[in-house]
Amino acid sequence: MNLIDGKEVAAALRKEIAAEVETMVAKGERPPYLVAVLVGDDGASQTYVGNKEKMSAEVGFRSQVLRLPAETTQEALLAEVARLNADPEVDGFIVQLPLPRHIDEQRVIEAIDPRKDVDGFHPENVGRMAMGLPAFVSATPDGILSLLRYYDIPTAGKHCVVIGRSNIVGRPIANLLSQKGWDCTVTICHSRTANLPEVVRQGDIVIAALGRAEFVTADMIKPGAVVIDVGITRVPSETTKSGWKLLGDVKFDEVAPRCSYITPVPGGVGPMTIVSLMKNTLKARHGL
Ligand code: NAD
Repeated sequence: MNLIDGKEVAAALRKEIAAEVETMVAKGERPPYLVAVLVGDDGASQTYVGNKEKMSAEVGFRSQVLRLPAETTQEALLAEVARLNADPEVDGFIVQLPLPRHIDEQRVIEAIDPRKDVDGFHPENVGRMAMGLPAFVSATPDGILSLLRYYDIPTAGKHCVVIGRSNIVGRPIANLLSQKGWDCTVTICHSRTANLPEVVRQGDIVIAALGRAEFVTADMIKPGAVVIDVGITRVPSETTKSGWKLLGDVKFDEVAPRCSYITPVPGGVGPMTIVSLMKNTLKARHGL
């Protein structure tokens, strides 16, 4: 069994991006500029945005966090989005989700200029991605592809079973892996799938993205399969100082010995997401 080390891959990609930015700046070009809009004071969102700001600095980007109060109206947020769309200095920006309940998230996402939509959530980018056209691919599916590429994991002709059909993980990764270049035969399982363990057992590559802690057990895994665990569930723990720990969708201890490759949680897919955002911002700086 080989452990897929997301921290190592993220560090390697971060280095590549930093080197590219250094070359740009040495040539007198301005570095990429990423803006994150944070509405309200949700703790987890503050941490995510803080990490994005930190990594931006590490790779040499210019970055800014626009902190808006929780009571910001939809109109005021849309005006901010319009201002960022029009600002020629801003290469890409994200509006951190979730937004307060009085704001229509979809409306905000669709207001972002697709050429600056480095989260890859705008329907134009989702559509372009689905058609195999140049697009901003959202962070989690892009991170999974980077892991497969880094470890040179063969995908052509393999049967990939994706568990979960969300717009941000299951559906896009299933689509991408079915495209030319990856060439998987893909099956998507979801909450209404009949005989799910039987279907998952056929997977040469299993991507678990359902958000149910330790759902995937050893009996569902074909010996030698590649297992990518996207799930993150916070559960109480007596053995940690914080009183909680993170579990993936895969029962790691029993599944790992059966696999050829597996991602741990934490330290697998998670570390890849911010670096994918950085990749998209660099892409936005050059134009898609
Ligand atoms: P979601 O809740 O939007 O979607 C879950 C999907 O799983 C749904 O399509 C549903 O049909 C399916 N599902 C639910 N229960 C099922 C069951 N019993 N059997 C089969 N399918 C079932 O979740 P999401 O946003 O796609 O996230 C999935 C998990 O990945 C969550 O734990 C989330 O925290 C995690 N996540 C991790 C990262 C990361 O960086 N590692 C990024 C995004 C999401």
